[in-house]
Amino acid sequence: MLRAALERLSQKRRTVAFPDGAPNLPDRLRGLPVIDAAKCPAACLAAPACAAACPMGAMRPGLGVGGTPLIDLGKCLYCTDCMAACPTGAITFGRDYRLAVRKREHLHFRGEALRLAEALEKRTRKLFGRSLKLRQVSAGGCNACEADLNVLTTIVFDLGRFGIDFVASPRHADGLMITGPVPENMREALRKCYDATPDPKIVIASGACAISGGPFAGLPESHDGADAVVPVDLYIPGCPPHPITALDGMLRLLGRI
Ligand code: SF4
Ligand code: SF4
Repeated sequence: MLRAALERLSQKRRTVAFPDGAPNLPDRLRGLPVIDAAKCPAACLAAPACAAACPMGAMRPGLGVGGTPLIDLGKCLYCTDCMAACPTGAITFGRDYRLAVRKREHLHFRGEALRLAEALEKRTRKLFGRSLKLRQVSAGGCNACEADLNVLTTIVFDLGRFGIDFVASPRHADGLMITGPVPENMREALRKCYDATPDPKIVIASGACAISGGPFAGLPESHDGADAVVPVDLYIPGCPPHPITALDGMLRLLGRI
């Protein structure tokens, strides 16, 4: 016991300083994409190789700044196929982990600053600002989003220090954290879970699947994301979202960033 206590003392503080300090991001993090329009030749802008290579159909030619493709961050898997296909090296994935937004259309990224999540209105913020209990609903998720939400509860991120916690029952929850594309087999369960959560409540969609259906979009069994079934208050993009991206979004929603 003494040995364990001494060992723990020698480890010192393990929790990230975020949001008071900058987060310690991994080298391989793929944050907000950047397209350098100056490197895009007119011929390529007319028929972009990047958009053709995107397995998600997440790029729409000509709708971004300087005629570059718009990227739907709600569909993007951050796979970097577009970057590999670009003949001029115009696309990079930056270090900006701040990606969460309040409205689906705010994920239509044109190359300008993202409209990051705004705080809930004052009354709801007063209710949940210091204590937010969430029921996690895995609606057909592959478990990657779920695993990275789980990471938020470890000593490294210590979600509980913000008063945010995951609870077992929707009846004890202030809201839902939804992952997965919502297949037909989960539609009714998700709806029942939503109805069982007392008002007022908030709903968060985490990951490309919960936002747009991800790779399952368009399949007959898929509802292509949570907002086809319940209203969503916060969209956290990624495949899966980095825990700091999710934490940043939640703290913005609660007006704590
Ligand atoms: S980013 Fe690359 S592939 Fe896409 S339009 Fe520009 S030059 Fe072409
Ligand atoms: S990183 Fe996103 S936009 Fe680029 S190819 Fe992959 S899914 Fe498409």
